[in-house]
Amino acid sequence: MGLRHASVLIAAFVALAIGSAGSAGSEPPSPRLQRSAEASRGGGRTRPTDRKTLDFYFIDVEGGQSTLIVTPAGQSMLVDAGYGGNDGRDPGRVMAAVNDAGLTQIDYLVTTHFHGDHVGGVPELSRRIPIHTFVDYGEPLENGFGARRLYDAYSLIRANGQYIQAKPGDRLPLKGLDVDVVSAGGALITKPLAHGGGANPACAALVKKENDETENPRSVGIRLRFGRFQFVDLGDLSNANLAALFCPENLIGQVRLYLVTHHGNSDTNIPAVLAALHPRAAIMNNGITKGGSYDTFRELHRAAWLEDVWQLHKSQNTEENFPDGRIANLDDTTGYAIRASAREDGSFTVTNSRTGETKRYAK
Ligand SMILES: [Zn+2]
Repeated sequence: MGLRHASVLIAAFVALAIGSAGSAGSEPPSPRLQRSAEASRGGGRTRPTDRKTLDFYFIDVEGGQSTLIVTPAGQSMLVDAGYGGNDGRDPGRVMAAVNDAGLTQIDYLVTTHFHGDHVGGVPELSRRIPIHTFVDYGEPLENGFGARRLYDAYSLIRANGQYIQAKPGDRLPLKGLDVDVVSAGGALITKPLAHGGGANPACAALVKKENDETENPRSVGIRLRFGRFQFVDLGDLSNANLAALFCPENLIGQVRLYLVTHHGNSDTNIPAVLAALHPRAAIMNNGITKGGSYDTFRELHRAAWLEDVWQLHKSQNTEENFPDGRIANLDDTTGYAIRASAREDGSFTVTNSRTGETKRYAK
C-alpha cells in the first residue's frame, strides 16, 4: 500500500513538472504580467477566501477577446480565449492571469461566438488548465468553413465538461453576483433587466444598420451586476442587434465599466448605445490595427461622462488614441493586460500592467 501510494505521488509530481515546464517554456510575457501585478499589490497574493473584490483581467490577445473574471467567492469566468496558433501565445497569456489569480481551474468559459480571435485559443488552453463548464449559443450560424472548423475543434473539448447553451434571459449560476445573458445566437432579451429600462432619448439620432451574415451579431452578451457595480461584455455584437438592446428602450441600464463592443470597430459605433450605458470608464480590446476605428475613438472622446478609455493597444489606425498612460501596449512586442477590481459599493480601480499605474473610480 505504502509503495503504491509513493508511486502515485511520483506520477503526480512528474505530471506537474511537465505541465509547468510546458507553460513556462512557451510564454515569455507571463513573468512580466505577474511581476507587475504582484508589485502593484505589494508582493502579496490574495487568497480566494480573502477576496472582497470582483477582479477583471483584460488579457492582451492582439485584437481578439479574452477577459478573465474572478468573483469574491473565488469562482472564475473566462470570456473567450483569444487566438489559437502563434506557439500558444494567447493561452499562455491567459495562464499568466490564471496563475496571478491563484486559480486551478476555469469554472465557466463563455464563448461569445465562433471566430478565431475568440474561440481559437480554447483547445490549447484546455491542455493547460481544466475547464469545468462551457457556455455558448450552440452550433455556429455563420455559413462557411471557418466558423465550422473552429466549432469542430472546440466542441470536442466542450464534450469533456459541463455545458450550458445560453439563451437571452438566462442567468449564469455564479455566487454573489448576477450574470445575465442578454444576447445569444441572434436572439435578444425583450424585457428590461433589473435596474435597466427607460426610454433612451439618444435613439432619436439612431442611424439604422443591417446585421451582417457573420457570427458577430450572434454573439453571447452578458451584463454582470455586483451590488452597485455593473459591467457589460457583448462580445462582437454589432449593427441592428446591438442597437436593439438600447433603442427605443434601454434594456440593460447603465453600467460603471464597459468593454467596448467588437474591439471598437465602426459597426458598433452607435452613439445611442454609449449614451444608454453611460459608463464611467471603458476598456477597448483593440490591436495595433484591428478594431479601434477613427469614428469609435471620436465618439468615445465626445462622451463627457466617460472619464477614461483604457486601450489594450495603441492604434495605428488613427491619431485619436487616448494618452499613453491609459494604453497597455504601445506596439505589438509586449503582452500586458489591463486589470480592474470592483467593490460592491460601485467603486472600482483600473490598472495598467505596463506602468503599474492604478486609477480609482469612487462610488
Ligand atoms: Zn472579435
